[in-house]
Amino acid sequence: MKYWRKTLDQDQVKPIRGRVEVLKDRCKQCRFCIDFCPKQVLEESTEFNRKGYHPVYAALPNECVNCGLCELICPEFAISVVPLEEEEVKEEARYV
Ligand code: SF4
Ligand code: SF4
Repeated sequence: MKYWRKTLDQDQVKPIRGRVEVLKDRCKQCRFCIDFCPKQVLEESTEFNRKGYHPVYAALPNECVNCGLCELICPEFAISVVPLEEEEVKEEARYV
């Protein structure tokens, strides 16, 4: 789902970044997190988990704004988001 709303002060506010963590074997590939992530961070992987599904992964990890929607919406409690400190954001960007 494309997120179309933009805040008026978006040039002045620096968004918090997050790191997505997926418990691969819990994922049932329902796609809720993929379809509702406002930043289109998540995609299905090509690997199989123990249940035979393709678990999600963060395809665009630097785009995650730590909104927590994926964590709230996942019916399997398979996904969580950890807020990143500024130094960690720089580290993550270096390896992507
Ligand atoms: S926390 Fe928000 S922006 Fe980050 S992956 Fe989840 S839904 Fe997308
Ligand atoms: S919402 Fe949960 S179970 Fe569904 S695809 Fe995302 S991580 Fe997997």
